[in-house]
Amino acid sequence: MREFAYERAYDVTGAVALLDTDSEARYLGGGTNLVDLMKSGVERPTRLIDIRELPLDRIEVTEGGGLRIGATVTNSDLAAHPEVRRNFPALAQAVLAGASGQLRNMATVGGNLLQRTRCGYFTDVTKPCNKRLPGSGCPAIAGEHHNHAILGGSDHCVAVHPSDMAVALTAFDAIVSYETADGTGELPLAKFYVPVGDAPNRETALPAGALITGVTLPPAPVAALSRYRKVRERASYAFAIGSVAAALDLRDGVVHDIRLAYGAVASRPWRARAAEAVLRGAPADAATFAAAADAELAAAAPLPDNGYKVALMRNLTVAVLTELTEEAAR
Ligand SMILES: Cc1cc2nc3c(=O)[nH]c(=O)nc-3n(C[C@H](O)[C@H](O)[C@H](O)COP(=O)(O)OP(=O)(O)OC[C@H]3O[C@@H](n4cnc5c(N)ncnc54)[C@H](O)[C@@H]3O)c2cc1C
Ligand code: SF4
Repeated sequence: MREFAYERAYDVTGAVALLDTDSEARYLGGGTNLVDLMKSGVERPTRLIDIRELPLDRIEVTEGGGLRIGATVTNSDLAAHPEVRRNFPALAQAVLAGASGQLRNMATVGGNLLQRTRCGYFTDVTKPCNKRLPGSGCPAIAGEHHNHAILGGSDHCVAVHPSDMAVALTAFDAIVSYETADGTGELPLAKFYVPVGDAPNRETALPAGALITGVTLPPAPVAALSRYRKVRERASYAFAIGSVAAALDLRDGVVHDIRLAYGAVASRPWRARAAEAVLRGAPADAATFAAAADAELAAAAPLPDNGYKVALMRNLTVAVLTELTEEAAR
């Protein structure tokens, strides 16, 4: 591992100022992704700015029942928070579906949003990879890609975003707050992750040096009846091969409000807006759920070894919406 300097920040302005002086420095959240990438040589920061002492470790309920979640809140604290469990259960389930208990105790909200893809070529510095080294190529397209993207893809990169938490946050229209040396800013999660295009090394719309300070969930009564379902290749902790975050508000058997997002199918958490459009105002039954999934997945462009994800996501959509419908009837 390359030698690096380490400093601890105690206030937000100080943290931002420290990083502003050194473009090769990185913020250190829980370190559960960054330190691994430093060990493999994918990340080679000159300096780590430890942000765990910043006063960003609280979850507050906002007027109307939304939540403001500090960037250094751990994944464990987020999943255990009573207001998260009551008003946004799919978010708590998504967080608990990710990693192991020990990792969740360390991992932070800001770090989870910015974790990097688990594409094996990205983490192997002996291989080319457009995301790690722009212009070097994408060996996954002709190589190992059984867990790669089927939606929103590009010829330059077909890696998927690995976060479970970000999928639930996408379904609930979360807004990311950040601070730079020039001041504060906000980005809706829908615009936070940029489409993969021809520059897969650029993953977010965050300005250079930005410190994520928190995430706001607007009030969403529909989220009280919500669920996150993740499919993975083994029962113990593993990244998703497909996941669904859904929230449903039914009135007399008809879909009044719906939130739907997919994980592990694209370079970013995927809001299933085409499916939502089919569902809104339609009867809540298996035929509608399947038609909604088909509308979303019509744009899928699978590679030879990941076509299974189309059927997987269709079945997962129908299953989760059916479960929520049954729950609503209880
Ligand atoms: C074995 C294993 C299994 C896992 N399984 C899953 C899984 O199933 N699902 C899942 O979602 N995740 C999984 N994870 C990933 C884990 O959730 C992430 O490693 C973790 O959320 C990252 O958070 P962190 O605070 O440790 O980030 P760090 O490693 O500290 O940082 C990650 C990146 O974010 C930047 N950063 C951190 N905080 C901020 C901030 N506030 N502002 C700006 N930049 C910041 C860092 O500079 C770095 O670039 C797994 C990890 C491991 C090691
Ligand atoms: S899919 Fe993306 S991350 Fe994986 S090798 Fe190709 S460019 Fe790199």
